Amino acid sequence: MEFIVFLGMPGTGKGTQCSLLKERDGVLSLSPGEIIRAKLSQDKEIADSVNRGELLSDDFIMNLVSENLNVLTKSNDSGVLIFDGIPRTIGQAKILNDLLETQFNSSPSLVVCFTVKKRLIINRLNNRVICSSCNAPGQLSKNFVCSVCGGKSYTKRLDDDSAVIRKRLFNNRKNTNEIYDFYRLNGAKCVKLDADSNIDSVYKKLKRVVLSTKI
Ligand SMILES: [Zn+2]
Repeated sequence: MEFIVFLGMPGTGKGTQCSLLKERDGVLSLSPGEIIRAKLSQDKEIADSVNRGELLSDDFIMNLVSENLNVLTKSNDSGVLIFDGIPRTIGQAKILNDLLETQFNSSPSLVVCFTVKKRLIINRLNNRVICSSCNAPGQLSKNFVCSVCGGKSYTKRLDDDSAVIRKRLFNNRKNTNEIYDFYRLNGAKCVKLDADSNIDSVYKKLKRVVLSTKI
Protein backbone atom coordinates (compact mmCIF):
# COMPACT_ATOMS: atom_id res chain seq x y z
CA MET A 1 0.00 0.00 0.00
CA GLU A 2 1.37 3.38 -1.06
CA PHE A 3 0.48 6.43 1.05
CA ILE A 4 0.48 9.95 -0.33
CA VAL A 5 -0.11 13.23 1.51
CA PHE A 6 -1.72 16.25 -0.18
CA LEU A 7 -0.85 19.50 1.59
CA GLY A 8 -1.97 23.03 0.85
CA MET A 9 -4.17 25.80 2.10
CA PRO A 10 -7.93 25.33 1.88
CA GLY A 11 -9.16 26.39 -1.55
CA THR A 12 -6.12 25.16 -3.48
CA GLY A 13 -8.23 22.52 -5.20
CA LYS A 14 -6.96 19.41 -3.39
CA GLY A 15 -10.47 18.07 -2.88
CA THR A 16 -11.45 18.54 -6.51
CA GLN A 17 -8.33 16.69 -7.66
CA CYS A 18 -9.02 13.84 -5.22
CA SER A 19 -12.52 13.53 -6.63
CA LEU A 20 -11.10 13.32 -10.17
CA LEU A 21 -8.41 10.77 -9.24
CA LYS A 22 -11.11 8.64 -7.65
CA GLU A 23 -13.56 8.94 -10.52
CA ARG A 24 -11.04 8.45 -13.35
CA ASP A 25 -8.26 6.36 -11.80
CA GLY A 26 -9.86 4.57 -8.85
CA VAL A 27 -7.43 6.16 -6.40
CA LEU A 28 -9.10 6.55 -3.01
CA SER A 29 -8.50 9.40 -0.61
CA LEU A 30 -9.21 10.08 3.01
CA SER A 31 -10.37 13.62 3.66
CA PRO A 32 -10.65 14.76 7.26
CA GLY A 33 -13.18 17.31 6.03
CA GLU A 34 -15.58 14.56 5.00
CA ILE A 35 -15.18 12.35 8.06
CA ILE A 36 -15.33 15.35 10.39
CA ARG A 37 -18.48 16.68 8.70
CA ALA A 38 -20.06 13.26 9.12
CA LYS A 39 -19.15 13.32 12.82
CA LEU A 40 -20.35 16.92 13.26
CA SER A 41 -23.76 16.07 11.89
CA GLN A 42 -24.11 13.87 14.99
CA ASP A 43 -22.59 16.26 17.54
CA LYS A 44 -23.95 19.82 17.81
CA GLU A 45 -21.45 21.03 20.43
CA ILE A 46 -18.41 20.25 18.28
CA ALA A 47 -20.22 21.57 15.21
CA ASP A 48 -20.76 24.97 16.88
CA SER A 49 -17.08 25.38 17.78
CA VAL A 50 -15.99 24.49 14.23
CA ASN A 51 -18.41 27.05 12.80
CA ARG A 52 -16.70 29.66 15.00
CA GLY A 53 -13.41 28.75 13.28
CA GLU A 54 -11.91 26.82 16.18
CA LEU A 55 -9.63 23.89 15.48
CA LEU A 56 -10.38 20.37 16.66
CA SER A 57 -7.74 18.57 18.73
CA ASP A 58 -5.17 16.37 16.99
CA ASP A 59 -6.25 13.33 18.99
CA PHE A 60 -9.90 13.80 18.08
CA ILE A 61 -9.10 14.07 14.37
CA MET A 62 -6.56 11.25 14.30
CA ASN A 63 -8.97 8.90 16.09
CA LEU A 64 -11.48 9.54 13.32
CA VAL A 65 -8.76 8.94 10.70
CA SER A 66 -7.75 5.68 12.31
CA GLU A 67 -11.38 4.48 12.40
CA ASN A 68 -11.80 5.19 8.68
CA LEU A 69 -8.38 4.00 7.49
CA ASN A 70 -8.99 0.26 7.84
CA VAL A 71 -12.30 0.39 5.98
CA LEU A 72 -10.77 2.39 3.12
CA THR A 73 -7.62 0.31 2.61
CA LYS A 74 -9.73 -2.88 2.44
CA SER A 75 -11.87 -1.52 -0.40
CA ASN A 76 -8.97 -0.03 -2.36
CA ASP A 77 -7.76 -1.83 -5.49
CA SER A 78 -5.46 0.91 -6.77
CA GLY A 79 -2.80 0.30 -4.10
CA VAL A 80 -2.63 4.04 -3.43
CA LEU A 81 -4.32 6.03 -0.69
CA ILE A 82 -4.19 9.83 -0.55
CA PHE A 83 -4.49 11.79 2.68
CA ASP A 84 -6.29 14.88 1.45
CA GLY A 85 -5.53 17.84 3.71
CA ILE A 86 -4.24 15.76 6.56
CA PRO A 87 -2.04 16.08 8.60
CA ARG A 88 -2.73 19.74 9.40
CA THR A 89 -0.25 20.01 12.27
CA ILE A 90 3.11 18.50 13.17
CA GLY A 91 1.33 16.68 16.01
CA GLN A 92 -1.01 15.02 13.52
CA ALA A 93 1.91 14.18 11.21
CA LYS A 94 3.64 12.31 14.02
CA ILE A 95 0.47 10.46 15.05
CA LEU A 96 -0.15 9.53 11.40
CA ASN A 97 3.39 8.17 11.02
CA ASP A 98 2.96 6.02 14.14
CA LEU A 99 -0.41 4.81 12.90
CA LEU A 100 0.88 3.79 9.45
CA GLU A 101 3.98 2.22 10.96
CA THR A 102 1.91 0.10 13.36
CA GLN A 103 -0.88 -0.90 10.99
CA PHE A 104 0.95 -1.14 7.64
CA ASN A 105 4.67 -1.04 8.45
CA SER A 106 4.74 1.93 6.09
CA SER A 107 4.92 5.71 5.90
CA PRO A 108 3.93 8.34 3.32
CA SER A 109 6.26 8.01 0.31
CA LEU A 110 5.11 11.12 -1.53
CA VAL A 111 4.01 14.56 -0.35
CA VAL A 112 2.42 17.00 -2.79
CA CYS A 113 2.05 20.59 -1.65
CA PHE A 114 -0.55 22.55 -3.65
CA THR A 115 0.42 26.20 -4.00
CA VAL A 116 -1.93 28.96 -5.13
CA LYS A 117 -1.75 32.76 -4.81
CA LYS A 118 -3.46 33.95 -1.61
CA ARG A 119 -5.89 36.28 -3.39
CA LEU A 120 -7.00 33.38 -5.58
CA ILE A 121 -7.58 31.18 -2.54
CA ILE A 122 -9.84 33.72 -0.83
CA ASN A 123 -11.79 34.12 -4.05
CA ARG A 124 -12.21 30.41 -4.53
CA LEU A 125 -13.26 29.83 -0.92
CA ASN A 126 -15.86 32.59 -1.04
CA ASN A 127 -17.36 30.88 -4.09
CA ARG A 128 -17.01 27.30 -2.94
CA VAL A 129 -19.99 24.96 -2.94
CA ILE A 130 -20.48 21.24 -2.42
CA CYS A 131 -22.34 19.05 -4.89
CA SER A 132 -25.59 17.80 -3.30
CA SER A 133 -25.32 14.40 -5.01
CA CYS A 134 -21.69 13.36 -4.56
CA ASN A 135 -20.19 15.92 -2.12
CA ALA A 136 -17.44 16.96 -4.55
CA PRO A 137 -16.37 20.57 -4.05
CA GLY A 138 -17.10 22.99 -6.87
CA GLN A 139 -17.35 26.68 -7.65
CA LEU A 140 -20.54 28.72 -7.40
CA SER A 141 -21.85 29.70 -10.82
CA LYS A 142 -25.13 30.59 -12.50
CA ASN A 143 -25.44 27.21 -14.18
CA PHE A 144 -23.69 24.96 -11.71
CA VAL A 145 -22.74 21.53 -13.06
CA CYS A 146 -20.71 19.18 -10.86
CA SER A 147 -17.42 18.32 -12.63
CA VAL A 148 -17.46 14.83 -11.14
CA CYS A 149 -21.05 13.52 -11.41
CA GLY A 150 -22.81 16.13 -13.53
CA GLY A 151 -25.25 16.99 -10.73
CA LYS A 152 -26.92 20.41 -10.92
CA SER A 153 -27.71 21.19 -7.27
CA TYR A 154 -25.28 22.32 -4.57
CA THR A 155 -25.01 23.46 -0.97
CA LYS A 156 -22.76 26.13 0.55
CA ARG A 157 -20.41 25.09 3.34
CA LEU A 158 -21.18 26.79 6.66
CA ASP A 159 -17.53 27.50 7.55
CA ASP A 160 -16.81 29.30 4.26
CA ASP A 161 -17.52 32.91 5.27
CA SER A 162 -14.69 35.42 5.05
CA ALA A 163 -13.81 35.96 8.75
CA VAL A 164 -13.58 32.22 9.26
CA ILE A 165 -11.59 31.87 6.04
CA ARG A 166 -8.96 34.41 7.18
CA LYS A 167 -8.59 32.64 10.52
CA ARG A 168 -8.16 29.29 8.81
CA LEU A 169 -5.61 30.66 6.34
CA PHE A 170 -3.50 32.12 9.13
CA ASN A 171 -3.46 28.82 11.05
CA ASN A 172 -2.88 26.83 7.92
CA ARG A 173 0.07 28.59 6.24
CA LYS A 174 2.53 28.12 9.10
CA ASN A 175 1.52 24.51 9.66
CA THR A 176 1.77 23.59 5.98
CA ASN A 177 5.40 24.73 5.75
CA GLU A 178 6.35 22.90 8.95
CA ILE A 179 4.73 19.67 7.84
CA TYR A 180 6.37 19.84 4.41
CA ASP A 181 9.79 20.14 6.09
CA PHE A 182 8.95 17.33 8.51
CA TYR A 183 8.33 14.89 5.64
CA ARG A 184 11.34 16.10 3.67
CA LEU A 185 13.58 15.39 6.66
CA ASN A 186 11.92 11.97 7.05
CA GLY A 187 12.93 11.01 3.49
CA ALA A 188 9.59 11.25 1.64
CA LYS A 189 9.61 12.55 -1.93
CA CYS A 190 8.30 16.11 -1.63
CA VAL A 191 6.85 18.01 -4.57
CA LYS A 192 5.43 21.53 -4.83
CA LEU A 193 2.63 21.72 -7.37
CA ASP A 194 1.62 25.03 -8.90
CA ALA A 195 -2.18 24.78 -8.70
CA ASP A 196 -2.97 28.19 -10.20
CA SER A 197 -3.92 26.79 -13.60
CA ASN A 198 -7.21 25.17 -14.59
CA ILE A 199 -8.51 21.92 -13.09
CA ASP A 200 -7.61 19.71 -16.04
CA SER A 201 -4.01 20.81 -16.45
CA VAL A 202 -3.42 20.47 -12.70
CA TYR A 203 -4.96 16.97 -12.92
CA LYS A 204 -2.57 15.97 -15.71
CA LYS A 205 0.50 17.18 -13.80
CA LEU A 206 -0.74 15.51 -10.64
CA LYS A 207 -1.54 12.18 -12.26
CA ARG A 208 2.03 11.92 -13.57
CA VAL A 209 3.43 12.52 -10.09
CA VAL A 210 0.96 10.29 -8.21
CA LEU A 211 0.99 7.30 -10.53
CA SER A 212 4.79 7.36 -10.90
CA THR A 213 5.02 6.24 -7.25
CA LYS A 214 3.24 2.98 -8.09
CA ILE A 215 5.52 0.01 -8.71
ZN1 LIG B 1 -21.42 15.62 -7.95
